[in-house]
Amino acid sequence: MSSELFGNRLLVIDDEPAFGALIRKVGESCGFEVLVTDDPISFSKTVQSFGPTVITLDLNMPGTDGVQLLRSLAADRCAAHLILSSGAGGKVLEAVMRLGHERGLKMSGVLPKPFRLETLREMLTQFSRISKKASAIDLADGITNGQLFLEYQLKLDCVLGLFTGVEALARWRHPIHGLIRPDEFIPLAEETDLIHRITDWAVSAAAEQSAVWQARNLDLSVAVNISAKDIEDLDLPERLHGHCKEAKIDTTSIILEVTETDAMREPVQMMDVLTRLRLKDFRLSIDDFGTGYSSLTQLQRLPFSEIKIDQSFVMQMTTDLGCQTIVEIIINLASKLGLKSVAEGVEDGVTLNALIDMGCDLAQGYHLSRPVAPDRIPELIASYQSPKMGGAA
Ligand code: C2E
Ligand code: MG
Ligand code: MG
Repeated sequence: MSSELFGNRLLVIDDEPAFGALIRKVGESCGFEVLVTDDPISFSKTVQSFGPTVITLDLNMPGTDGVQLLRSLAADRCAAHLILSSGAGGKVLEAVMRLGHERGLKMSGVLPKPFRLETLREMLTQFSRISKKASAIDLADGITNGQLFLEYQLKLDCVLGLFTGVEALARWRHPIHGLIRPDEFIPLAEETDLIHRITDWAVSAAAEQSAVWQARNLDLSVAVNISAKDIEDLDLPERLHGHCKEAKIDTTSIILEVTETDAMREPVQMMDVLTRLRLKDFRLSIDDFGTGYSSLTQLQRLPFSEIKIDQSFVMQMTTDLGCQTIVEIIINLASKLGLKSVAEGVEDGVTLNALIDMGCDLAQGYHLSRPVAPDRIPELIASYQSPKMGGAA
Protein backbone atom coordinates (compact mmCIF):
# COMPACT_ATOMS: atom_id res chain seq x y z
CA MET A 1 0.00 0.00 0.00
CA SER A 2 1.53 3.27 -1.11
CA SER A 3 1.56 6.27 1.23
CA GLU A 4 0.47 8.47 -1.72
CA LEU A 5 -2.92 6.84 -1.43
CA PHE A 6 -3.27 8.69 1.84
CA GLY A 7 -2.07 12.10 0.57
CA ASN A 8 -4.20 15.21 1.01
CA ARG A 9 -6.91 15.43 -1.61
CA LEU A 10 -9.71 17.99 -1.65
CA LEU A 11 -12.87 17.53 -3.70
CA VAL A 12 -14.93 20.68 -4.18
CA ILE A 13 -18.51 20.37 -5.34
CA ASP A 14 -19.89 23.80 -6.16
CA ASP A 15 -21.85 25.18 -9.10
CA GLU A 16 -20.56 28.74 -8.67
CA PRO A 17 -17.27 28.89 -10.61
CA ALA A 18 -15.97 31.83 -8.55
CA PHE A 19 -16.33 29.90 -5.27
CA GLY A 20 -14.89 26.74 -6.81
CA ALA A 21 -11.83 28.66 -8.00
CA LEU A 22 -11.39 30.35 -4.62
CA ILE A 23 -11.54 27.08 -2.69
CA ARG A 24 -9.12 25.51 -5.19
CA LYS A 25 -6.63 28.32 -4.59
CA VAL A 26 -6.76 28.02 -0.81
CA GLY A 27 -6.67 24.19 -1.00
CA GLU A 28 -3.58 24.17 -3.19
CA SER A 29 -1.82 26.66 -0.94
CA CYS A 30 -2.44 24.22 1.96
CA GLY A 31 -0.79 21.36 0.04
CA PHE A 32 -3.94 19.65 -1.27
CA GLU A 33 -4.41 18.12 -4.66
CA VAL A 34 -7.73 19.73 -5.64
CA LEU A 35 -10.54 18.63 -7.94
CA VAL A 36 -13.52 20.94 -8.53
CA THR A 37 -16.76 19.59 -9.97
CA ASP A 38 -20.23 20.99 -10.53
CA ASP A 39 -21.69 17.67 -11.64
CA PRO A 40 -23.77 16.00 -8.92
CA ILE A 41 -24.74 13.14 -11.26
CA SER A 42 -21.28 11.59 -11.56
CA PHE A 43 -20.36 12.71 -8.02
CA SER A 44 -20.28 9.22 -6.50
CA LYS A 45 -17.93 7.94 -9.24
CA THR A 46 -15.68 10.99 -8.83
CA VAL A 47 -15.45 10.39 -5.06
CA GLN A 48 -14.45 6.77 -5.63
CA SER A 49 -11.84 7.46 -8.29
CA PHE A 50 -10.32 10.55 -6.62
CA GLY A 51 -10.39 9.27 -3.01
CA PRO A 52 -10.62 12.69 -1.31
CA THR A 53 -9.54 13.21 2.31
CA VAL A 54 -11.69 16.36 2.50
CA ILE A 55 -14.85 17.31 0.59
CA THR A 56 -16.47 20.75 0.52
CA LEU A 57 -20.08 20.36 -0.42
CA ASP A 58 -22.38 23.11 -1.66
CA LEU A 59 -25.85 22.33 -0.30
CA ASN A 60 -27.76 24.05 -3.08
CA MET A 61 -26.88 22.55 -6.44
CA PRO A 62 -29.21 22.71 -9.44
CA GLY A 63 -31.00 19.37 -9.87
CA THR A 64 -30.02 17.96 -6.47
CA ASP A 65 -29.43 19.06 -2.92
CA GLY A 66 -26.79 18.38 -0.31
CA VAL A 67 -28.99 15.92 1.56
CA GLN A 68 -29.21 13.63 -1.46
CA LEU A 69 -25.45 13.82 -1.92
CA LEU A 70 -24.89 12.98 1.77
CA ARG A 71 -27.09 9.93 1.34
CA SER A 72 -25.01 8.72 -1.57
CA LEU A 73 -21.74 9.39 0.34
CA ALA A 74 -23.04 7.39 3.31
CA ALA A 75 -24.03 4.49 1.02
CA ASP A 76 -20.44 4.48 -0.31
CA ARG A 77 -19.06 4.55 3.28
CA CYS A 78 -17.13 7.74 2.52
CA ALA A 79 -14.41 8.39 5.15
CA ALA A 80 -13.50 11.96 4.05
CA HIS A 81 -13.93 15.01 6.28
CA LEU A 82 -17.00 16.90 5.05
CA ILE A 83 -17.30 20.68 5.09
CA LEU A 84 -20.71 22.05 4.17
CA SER A 85 -20.69 25.32 2.26
CA SER A 86 -23.96 27.17 1.99
CA GLY A 87 -25.77 30.46 2.12
CA ALA A 88 -28.67 28.70 3.91
CA GLY A 89 -29.57 29.74 7.44
CA GLY A 90 -28.09 28.26 10.63
CA LYS A 91 -31.00 25.92 11.42
CA VAL A 92 -30.86 24.26 8.00
CA LEU A 93 -27.10 23.78 8.29
CA GLU A 94 -27.48 22.35 11.79
CA ALA A 95 -30.13 19.88 10.59
CA VAL A 96 -27.95 18.75 7.68
CA MET A 97 -24.91 18.38 9.97
CA ARG A 98 -26.96 16.21 12.35
CA LEU A 99 -28.31 14.13 9.50
CA GLY A 100 -24.80 13.53 8.18
CA HIS A 101 -23.57 12.51 11.65
CA GLU A 102 -26.44 10.08 11.97
CA ARG A 103 -25.55 8.58 8.62
CA GLY A 104 -22.07 7.89 10.01
CA LEU A 105 -20.28 10.61 7.98
CA LYS A 106 -17.43 12.76 9.33
CA MET A 107 -19.20 16.13 9.43
CA SER A 108 -16.22 18.36 10.13
CA GLY A 109 -17.29 21.95 9.58
CA VAL A 110 -19.51 24.60 8.07
CA LEU A 111 -18.46 27.29 5.65
CA PRO A 112 -21.27 29.87 5.47
CA LYS A 113 -21.16 31.88 2.23
CA PRO A 114 -19.64 34.41 1.90
CA PHE A 115 -16.69 32.99 3.86
CA ARG A 116 -13.36 34.36 5.01
CA LEU A 117 -10.39 32.78 3.25
CA GLU A 118 -8.68 32.46 6.60
CA THR A 119 -11.54 30.32 7.99
CA LEU A 120 -11.18 27.84 5.13
CA ARG A 121 -7.38 27.85 5.41
CA GLU A 122 -7.59 27.02 9.14
CA MET A 123 -9.97 24.12 8.51
CA LEU A 124 -7.88 22.65 5.71
CA THR A 125 -4.61 22.97 7.61
CA GLN A 126 -6.13 21.01 10.47
CA PHE A 127 -7.33 18.19 8.21
CA SER A 128 -4.14 18.15 6.21
CA ARG A 129 -2.22 17.49 9.42
CA ILE A 130 -4.62 14.70 10.42
CA SER A 131 -4.40 12.88 7.13
CA LYS A 132 -0.63 13.30 6.92
CA LYS A 133 -0.30 11.73 10.34
CA ALA A 134 -2.11 8.66 9.25
CA SER A 135 0.07 7.01 6.67
CA ALA A 136 -0.40 3.28 6.30
CA ILE A 137 3.35 2.75 5.97
CA ASP A 138 3.91 4.63 9.24
CA LEU A 139 1.28 2.53 10.93
CA ALA A 140 2.79 -0.74 9.73
CA ASP A 141 6.17 0.43 11.10
CA GLY A 142 4.49 1.52 14.32
CA ILE A 143 3.03 -1.95 14.89
CA THR A 144 6.36 -3.63 14.14
CA ASN A 145 8.34 -1.23 16.35
CA GLY A 146 6.07 -1.40 19.39
CA GLN A 147 4.67 2.16 19.10
CA LEU A 148 1.14 0.92 19.85
CA PHE A 149 0.06 0.42 23.43
CA LEU A 150 -3.10 -0.25 25.40
CA GLU A 151 -4.74 1.84 28.08
CA TYR A 152 -7.42 0.31 30.30
CA GLN A 153 -10.68 1.82 31.53
CA LEU A 154 -12.44 0.28 34.52
CA LYS A 155 -16.01 -1.07 34.37
CA LEU A 156 -18.16 -0.98 37.51
CA ASP A 157 -20.59 -3.75 38.46
CA CYS A 158 -23.60 -1.62 39.48
CA VAL A 159 -25.07 -4.30 41.75
CA LEU A 160 -21.89 -5.22 43.61
CA GLY A 161 -20.50 -1.66 43.61
CA LEU A 162 -17.15 -3.13 42.56
CA PHE A 163 -14.90 -2.87 39.54
CA THR A 164 -15.08 -6.25 37.80
CA GLY A 165 -13.65 -5.51 34.38
CA VAL A 166 -11.73 -3.19 32.08
CA GLU A 167 -11.85 -2.19 28.42
CA ALA A 168 -8.54 -2.13 26.54
CA LEU A 169 -8.19 0.93 24.27
CA ALA A 170 -5.40 1.22 21.71
CA ARG A 171 -3.15 4.28 21.35
CA TRP A 172 -0.31 5.02 18.94
CA ARG A 173 2.75 6.97 20.08
CA HIS A 174 4.09 8.28 16.78
CA PRO A 175 7.78 9.32 16.89
CA ILE A 176 7.04 12.67 15.14
CA HIS A 177 3.34 13.40 15.56
CA GLY A 178 3.03 12.26 19.17
CA LEU A 179 -0.04 10.53 20.54
CA ILE A 180 -2.61 9.49 17.92
CA ARG A 181 -6.06 8.34 19.00
CA PRO A 182 -7.77 5.19 17.71
CA ASP A 183 -10.50 7.16 15.93
CA GLU A 184 -7.74 8.37 13.61
CA PHE A 185 -5.72 5.22 12.99
CA ILE A 186 -8.30 2.39 13.27
CA PRO A 187 -10.23 3.56 10.14
CA LEU A 188 -6.90 3.67 8.29
CA ALA A 189 -6.06 0.17 9.49
CA GLU A 190 -9.51 -1.00 8.37
CA GLU A 191 -8.86 0.27 4.85
CA THR A 192 -5.84 -2.04 4.71
CA ASP A 193 -5.14 -5.47 6.16
CA LEU A 194 -3.31 -3.85 9.06
CA ILE A 195 -6.43 -4.19 11.19
CA HIS A 196 -5.80 -7.95 11.52
CA ARG A 197 -2.29 -7.29 12.86
CA ILE A 198 -3.70 -4.72 15.31
CA THR A 199 -6.40 -7.12 16.53
CA ASP A 200 -3.89 -9.95 17.01
CA TRP A 201 -1.56 -7.60 18.85
CA ALA A 202 -4.38 -6.13 21.03
CA VAL A 203 -5.84 -9.50 22.06
CA SER A 204 -2.40 -10.90 22.74
CA ALA A 205 -1.31 -7.87 24.83
CA ALA A 206 -4.62 -7.82 26.72
CA ALA A 207 -4.34 -11.55 27.46
CA GLU A 208 -0.82 -11.08 28.83
CA GLN A 209 -2.01 -8.19 30.99
CA SER A 210 -4.91 -10.28 32.23
CA ALA A 211 -2.42 -12.98 33.30
CA VAL A 212 -0.41 -10.35 35.23
CA TRP A 213 -3.53 -9.15 37.10
CA GLN A 214 -4.65 -12.73 37.82
CA ALA A 215 -1.25 -13.45 39.34
CA ARG A 216 -1.93 -10.48 41.69
CA ASN A 217 -5.39 -11.90 42.53
CA LEU A 218 -7.19 -9.17 40.60
CA ASP A 219 -10.12 -10.80 38.91
CA LEU A 220 -10.99 -8.51 35.99
CA SER A 221 -12.61 -9.36 32.68
CA VAL A 222 -10.75 -7.66 29.82
CA ALA A 223 -12.72 -6.30 26.86
CA VAL A 224 -10.93 -5.82 23.52
CA ASN A 225 -12.40 -4.02 20.50
CA ILE A 226 -12.38 -5.96 17.27
CA SER A 227 -13.37 -4.72 13.84
CA ALA A 228 -16.07 -5.91 11.46
CA LYS A 229 -13.30 -6.80 9.03
CA ASP A 230 -11.99 -9.27 11.62
CA ILE A 231 -15.23 -11.18 11.73
CA GLU A 232 -15.03 -11.74 7.99
CA ASP A 233 -11.87 -13.75 8.71
CA LEU A 234 -12.69 -17.45 9.25
CA ASP A 235 -9.36 -18.14 11.03
CA LEU A 236 -9.99 -15.50 13.71
CA PRO A 237 -11.39 -17.82 16.44
CA GLU A 238 -8.36 -20.15 16.30
CA ARG A 239 -5.86 -17.28 16.27
CA LEU A 240 -7.43 -15.46 19.23
CA HIS A 241 -7.75 -18.72 21.15
CA GLY A 242 -4.03 -19.28 20.46
CA HIS A 243 -3.14 -15.88 22.02
CA CYS A 244 -5.04 -16.78 25.21
CA LYS A 245 -3.34 -20.17 25.37
CA GLU A 246 0.07 -18.56 25.03
CA ALA A 247 -0.72 -16.15 27.87
CA LYS A 248 -2.11 -19.09 29.90
CA ILE A 249 -5.48 -17.48 30.55
CA ASP A 250 -9.02 -18.76 29.96
CA THR A 251 -10.93 -17.30 27.03
CA THR A 252 -13.77 -16.62 29.51
CA SER A 253 -11.70 -13.67 30.80
CA ILE A 254 -11.84 -11.93 27.40
CA ILE A 255 -14.82 -10.00 26.03
CA LEU A 256 -14.69 -9.11 22.34
CA GLU A 257 -16.50 -5.86 21.48
CA VAL A 258 -17.85 -5.41 17.96
CA THR A 259 -19.40 -2.11 16.84
CA GLU A 260 -23.05 -2.47 16.05
CA THR A 261 -23.04 -0.81 12.61
CA ASP A 262 -20.28 -3.10 11.46
CA ALA A 263 -21.48 -6.20 13.24
CA MET A 264 -24.65 -6.31 11.25
CA ARG A 265 -23.16 -6.88 7.77
CA GLU A 266 -22.50 -10.24 6.01
CA PRO A 267 -24.85 -12.14 8.34
CA VAL A 268 -23.92 -15.75 7.45
CA GLN A 269 -20.12 -15.45 7.55
CA MET A 270 -20.41 -13.29 10.64
CA MET A 271 -22.65 -15.80 12.39
CA ASP A 272 -20.09 -18.54 11.59
CA VAL A 273 -17.18 -16.63 13.15
CA LEU A 274 -19.11 -15.21 16.11
CA THR A 275 -20.59 -18.61 16.96
CA ARG A 276 -17.17 -20.28 16.87
CA LEU A 277 -15.79 -17.54 19.14
CA ARG A 278 -18.61 -18.31 21.59
CA LEU A 279 -17.90 -22.04 21.33
CA LYS A 280 -14.35 -21.20 22.39
CA ASP A 281 -15.89 -19.41 25.42
CA PHE A 282 -15.04 -15.82 24.47
CA ARG A 283 -17.78 -13.40 25.55
CA LEU A 284 -19.15 -11.11 22.84
CA SER A 285 -20.35 -7.57 23.28
CA ILE A 286 -22.23 -5.37 20.83
CA ASP A 287 -20.63 -1.91 21.09
CA ASP A 288 -22.22 1.54 20.56
CA PHE A 289 -25.69 -0.02 20.58
CA GLY A 290 -28.50 2.23 19.41
CA THR A 291 -26.58 4.13 16.73
CA GLY A 292 -26.35 1.53 13.98
CA TYR A 293 -28.52 -0.57 11.77
CA SER A 294 -29.17 -3.68 13.85
CA SER A 295 -32.52 -5.32 13.82
CA LEU A 296 -33.90 -6.79 17.01
CA THR A 297 -34.22 -10.18 15.29
CA GLN A 298 -30.49 -10.26 14.54
CA LEU A 299 -29.74 -9.27 18.11
CA GLN A 300 -31.70 -12.24 19.35
CA ARG A 301 -30.19 -14.67 16.79
CA LEU A 302 -26.54 -13.70 17.18
CA PRO A 303 -24.61 -15.08 20.15
CA PHE A 304 -23.88 -11.82 21.98
CA SER A 305 -23.55 -11.86 25.76
CA GLU A 306 -23.56 -8.09 26.39
CA ILE A 307 -25.00 -4.83 24.99
CA LYS A 308 -23.04 -1.59 25.37
CA ILE A 309 -25.37 1.39 25.21
CA ASP A 310 -23.87 4.14 23.06
CA GLN A 311 -22.39 7.00 25.07
CA SER A 312 -24.38 9.64 23.16
CA PHE A 313 -27.57 8.44 24.91
CA VAL A 314 -25.93 7.98 28.30
CA MET A 315 -24.32 11.43 28.32
CA GLN A 316 -27.65 13.18 27.68
CA MET A 317 -29.94 10.92 29.69
CA THR A 318 -30.28 13.27 32.66
CA THR A 319 -31.17 16.28 30.50
CA ASP A 320 -33.09 14.71 27.60
CA LEU A 321 -36.16 12.61 28.22
CA GLY A 322 -35.84 10.88 24.83
CA CYS A 323 -32.31 9.67 25.65
CA GLN A 324 -33.43 8.56 29.11
CA THR A 325 -36.22 6.50 27.55
CA ILE A 326 -33.85 4.89 25.03
CA VAL A 327 -31.37 3.94 27.77
CA GLU A 328 -34.14 2.45 29.90
CA ILE A 329 -35.56 0.45 27.00
CA ILE A 330 -32.14 -0.96 26.05
CA ILE A 331 -31.50 -2.00 29.67
CA ASN A 332 -34.89 -3.80 29.75
CA LEU A 333 -34.28 -5.34 26.34
CA ALA A 334 -30.91 -6.71 27.46
CA SER A 335 -32.41 -8.12 30.63
CA LYS A 336 -35.28 -9.82 28.75
CA LEU A 337 -32.83 -11.36 26.26
CA GLY A 338 -30.58 -12.59 29.07
CA LEU A 339 -27.75 -10.19 28.11
CA LYS A 340 -25.66 -7.91 30.34
CA SER A 341 -26.21 -4.17 29.85
CA VAL A 342 -23.25 -1.79 29.97
CA ALA A 343 -23.60 2.01 29.91
CA GLU A 344 -20.55 3.85 28.60
CA GLY A 345 -19.85 7.59 28.80
CA VAL A 346 -20.90 7.92 32.47
CA GLU A 347 -19.51 11.36 33.27
CA ASP A 348 -21.20 12.21 36.58
CA GLY A 349 -22.68 10.74 39.75
CA VAL A 350 -26.27 11.71 38.87
CA THR A 351 -26.10 9.59 35.70
CA LEU A 352 -24.52 6.69 37.58
CA ASN A 353 -27.27 6.71 40.23
CA ALA A 354 -29.98 6.91 37.56
CA LEU A 355 -28.44 3.89 35.79
CA ILE A 356 -28.29 1.93 39.05
CA ASP A 357 -31.99 2.73 39.63
CA MET A 358 -32.83 1.52 36.11
CA GLY A 359 -31.15 -1.84 36.80
CA CYS A 360 -28.16 -1.37 34.46
CA ASP A 361 -25.58 -4.14 35.07
CA LEU A 362 -22.31 -2.31 34.40
CA ALA A 363 -21.13 1.30 34.03
CA GLN A 364 -18.05 2.81 32.42
CA GLY A 365 -16.99 6.43 32.02
CA TYR A 366 -14.78 9.32 33.09
CA HIS A 367 -16.69 9.65 36.39
CA LEU A 368 -15.42 6.20 37.39
CA SER A 369 -12.05 6.13 35.66
CA ARG A 370 -10.27 7.54 32.61
CA PRO A 371 -8.43 5.07 30.39
CA VAL A 372 -5.05 4.61 32.16
CA ALA A 373 -1.82 2.62 31.97
CA PRO A 374 -2.27 -0.93 33.35
CA ASP A 375 -0.09 -0.40 36.42
CA ARG A 376 -2.48 2.33 37.65
CA ILE A 377 -5.46 -0.04 37.74
CA PRO A 378 -4.75 -1.63 41.18
CA GLU A 379 -4.46 1.80 42.87
CA LEU A 380 -7.71 3.04 41.23
CA ILE A 381 -9.53 -0.05 42.46
CA ALA A 382 -8.11 0.35 45.96
CA SER A 383 -9.10 4.03 46.22
CA TYR A 384 -12.64 3.67 44.86
CA GLN A 385 -15.66 4.10 47.09
CA SER A 386 -18.96 2.90 45.69
CA PRO A 387 -21.81 5.46 45.51
CA LYS A 388 -23.59 3.69 48.38
CA MET A 389 -20.55 4.47 50.52
CA GLY A 390 -20.46 8.19 49.69
CA GLY A 391 -19.60 8.92 46.05
CA ALA A 392 -17.17 7.89 43.33
CA ALA A 393 -13.44 8.45 43.68
P1 C2E B 1 -15.38 2.44 22.08
O1 C2E B 1 -15.00 1.01 22.03
O2 C2E B 1 -16.84 2.77 22.08
O3 C2E B 1 -14.65 3.03 23.36
C1 C2E B 1 -15.16 4.05 24.16
C2 C2E B 1 -14.51 5.38 23.86
O4 C2E B 1 -15.12 6.38 24.68
C3 C2E B 1 -13.04 5.44 24.17
O5 C2E B 1 -12.44 6.37 23.27
C4 C2E B 1 -13.02 6.01 25.60
O6 C2E B 1 -11.79 6.63 25.93
C5 C2E B 1 -14.14 7.02 25.49
N1 C2E B 1 -14.79 7.27 26.79
C6 C2E B 1 -14.94 6.43 27.83
N2 C2E B 1 -15.62 7.00 28.83
C7 C2E B 1 -15.94 8.25 28.43
C8 C2E B 1 -16.65 9.35 29.03
O7 C2E B 1 -17.14 9.29 30.16
N3 C2E B 1 -16.77 10.48 28.28
C9 C2E B 1 -16.26 10.58 27.02
N4 C2E B 1 -16.40 11.75 26.37
N5 C2E B 1 -15.57 9.57 26.42
C10 C2E B 1 -15.43 8.41 27.11
P2 C2E B 1 -11.08 6.03 22.52
O8 C2E B 1 -10.12 5.37 23.45
O9 C2E B 1 -10.66 7.29 21.82
O10 C2E B 1 -11.53 4.95 21.46
C11 C2E B 1 -12.39 5.28 20.40
C12 C2E B 1 -12.84 4.07 19.63
O11 C2E B 1 -11.73 3.48 18.92
C13 C2E B 1 -13.38 2.95 20.52
O12 C2E B 1 -14.71 3.25 20.86
C14 C2E B 1 -13.23 1.75 19.60
O13 C2E B 1 -14.31 1.67 18.70
C15 C2E B 1 -11.98 2.09 18.81
N6 C2E B 1 -10.83 1.34 19.35
C16 C2E B 1 -10.06 1.59 20.43
N7 C2E B 1 -9.11 0.65 20.57
C17 C2E B 1 -9.29 -0.25 19.57
C18 C2E B 1 -8.64 -1.48 19.19
O14 C2E B 1 -7.68 -1.98 19.83
N8 C2E B 1 -9.11 -2.13 18.08
C19 C2E B 1 -10.20 -1.64 17.38
N9 C2E B 1 -10.62 -2.34 16.30
N10 C2E B 1 -10.83 -0.50 17.71
C20 C2E B 1 -10.39 0.18 18.80
MG1 MG C 1 -15.55 -0.61 22.85
MG1 MG D 1 -18.54 2.25 22.46
